[in-house]
This record gives sequence, structure tokens and C-alpha cells, in this order.
Amino acid sequence: MIKLNDNFEHLPQRYIFTEVGLEVARFKKENPGVEIIRMDVGDVSQPLCEAAVKAMHEAIDDLTRRETLAGYGPEEGYKWLREAIALKVYAPLGIDFRADEIFISDGAAADLGNLGNLFAQNCNVAAQDPVYPVYVDASIIDGRNKIILLPCTAKNNFVPELPEERADIIYLCFPNNPTASVLTKDQLKVWVDYARENGSIIIYDGAYEAYIRTPGVPRSIYEVEGAREVAIEVRSFSKVAGFTGVRCGYTVVPSDLKGYYSDGERADLRANWDRRQHTKFNGASYISQRGALASLSEEGIRQTRAQVDYYLRNAGNLRAALESVGIEAFGGVDSPYVWVKTPGDMSSWDCFHMLLDKARVTCTPGSGFGKAGEGYVRLTGFNTEELTALAAERLRKLL
Ligand code: PLP
Repeated sequence: MIKLNDNFEHLPQRYIFTEVGLEVARFKKENPGVEIIRMDVGDVSQPLCEAAVKAMHEAIDDLTRRETLAGYGPEEGYKWLREAIALKVYAPLGIDFRADEIFISDGAAADLGNLGNLFAQNCNVAAQDPVYPVYVDASIIDGRNKIILLPCTAKNNFVPELPEERADIIYLCFPNNPTASVLTKDQLKVWVDYARENGSIIIYDGAYEAYIRTPGVPRSIYEVEGAREVAIEVRSFSKVAGFTGVRCGYTVVPSDLKGYYSDGERADLRANWDRRQHTKFNGASYISQRGALASLSEEGIRQTRAQVDYYLRNAGNLRAALESVGIEAFGGVDSPYVWVKTPGDMSSWDCFHMLLDKARVTCTPGSGFGKAGEGYVRLTGFNTEELTALAAERLRKLL
């Protein structure tokens, strides 16, 4: 029989979102006809913005004509999209990237899982706890030497402290999923300085950067001086343009990033990522890249901003409703998530079941994002305005 990758044995039995889905399905089966409101889901509810829809229709028309047919595209993405990201996303922040430092992906999740390919297996990894599971799970699958968890709790305002042991690869996610915390520029600088002093690389997940509204909160790690020598930034069109099903994102690997092979040879991370993508990735779809480009047009930016505002309003209202009945809640500002302390000493899963049984409202148990998430649940602002208001009312009455 074939020998398997033993590291899979060390993964949690089930992915948290799968587990919640199974619990919801079980509840529905046992309670046929009972209508529940999904406040656990990190997926969008609003239709795609008009600008992107129009561009994607046109892109499909291109595929119907021999002269405009788009087959395999560049593995690293079309130049027009890479240039638009440099110009429309980074230049307004005062950050200067060449198009060839930006790699188009089919969403952030795969890149976040695959970037580990760049590094030696015996690297130490640091990741926030609780956090979006892909960084830790991918590090387990890759058989990393050590995974250092950085607890983010109410005690430290959900801001991770520097690790006591040296970390080679550091995953940071801000605005954070699930705690909704953001960092100031000074707080982010602590990490950039640490990476520069220790020869570490930060993999910065900015999937929710579009939700940042507080002035002074950095939208990109490259707003911190020196970050381009130590950081890779991963972003997505999923939560800004509703592309969760369309699939498009991008990863910035600056040409300043260098590392060493075990024989002492110095090498360029950008060139290696480019090489890796050419072999293992055949590019994001032409259609989704055309849609992504349109979302960066003047009209697209206006339309997607309105959608992000909509989800932010939902999250803010949800938090306010919980606080009005004395429940401790975080987020709903600069983030579509609300991170809620469970009442009393209730565990995350007990709270999940209570909300489902008594209010017919779902949440995601915080413990599914890591040990330090125990005693919390995550609610999202991604449902419709009407259902969010109804869920908020049910929770207010119950709690
Ligand atoms: N990063 C974070 C923090 C997320 O919450 C998600 C999705 O929910 C992703 C990345 C993945 O996004 P994508 O749809 O681009 O794969």
C-alpha cells in the first residue's frame, strides 16, 4: 500500500466550517420546516457589482470569437490586471510596486496554503490564535519544525505579542478573522522590525483590508517602512467585490525579498514564487480577471465600496444589539466580523447550540479558530440587512 503523509494525522479531525455545516444540517433534519438565520457564514449575500458583471459578460463574448478567444493566460496573471493593482491599489497608498511583483491568484486561500513551498521544511512558524485556519493547517501538512501560537485574547486586546522563540515564518491577519482586531502602524512596525532583526518573513493576510475605515489604520503592511524587505502580502477580491464564487486574488512578492539555500547561495523569493506558479498553477480564469479589473475602475470602486459599507453597517448593528443587552462584543468596525464573549462561562460549542436551539441563529464557535478562541463565538455581517436585523432582534431577546 502507498505510504501517506503522516502530517495529516496531526490535523484537527474536521475543518471548523465543515463541522458547523454538519451541525446545521443535523438541526435542519431534526427540525424540518424551522427557519434559521445563518450568521456564521463568511460568504457574501449581495449580487456582484454591475461593473464586474458587465465586464465578465463581455469576457464571455470574447470567448465566443476566434479572434478574441483567450486560452491559457500567463500563469502569473494578465499584465493589465497586475498593472491596475499597482496603480489603483498600491500607488494611492504611496506604495510603488512593479507589475511583476504582483501575482494574480484564484483567491487568497490557495496562495496562503502554498507560499510555504518557498521555505525550508525545518522553519519555525508563528501564527495568531485564534485565526483563520489555513496558516496552521498548511504548516501542519508541510511538517514544520514548530508552530508557535500567539494568543490573542481580550487581555492583550487581540493583538499578538512577539514570540519568545525565534519564528522564521510569521502569519499575520489584519483585520483579523475571527477577532476583527486591527493594528495601528506602530503595532505593525513592531513585527516588521522583528522580522528585519531576525531574518524572518511575514506572510500578511489582508483579505479584509477594504473594511478598514478608521483613519491611520494601515491597509497594507507595506505602509510600514522596511516591510518590502520582509513581507509577502496576500489579498483577495472575495470580500471586497463579492468574488467568493468567481475566484480572484493576488499576492505581492517584492523583489527586495531574499533568502538563503542551505549551501549558502542567496536567492530571490519573487523569482522562486514565479517559478513555482509556472509549474504548479495555470493562472486564474480570464473571465474572473476581467471582472477583477472592472472592480478597480472608478465605477467599480464606487460600487464595491457601497457593498462593503452595507456589510459594515450590518456588523455594526449586530454588535450594538448585543451590547445593548450587556453582552461583550468586539469588532463590527474595520471588519465584517463581530467577536462575541459567550455569556457566563459557556463554551463556544454550548453557545452555538444554545443560539441555534433557542434563537434559530447560527454562529461559528470561536474554539474552531484555535484554543484561545474558546469562550467566544463569531458572527458575521455578510447576511442581508433584513435577516441581520431579525437575527439581532432574536439574540437581544434571548440574551
Ligand atoms: N483570508 C482570510 C482571513 C479569510 O477569512 C478568507 C476567507 O474567508 C480567505 C483568506 C480566503 O479568501 P479567498 O476567497 O480569496 O480564497
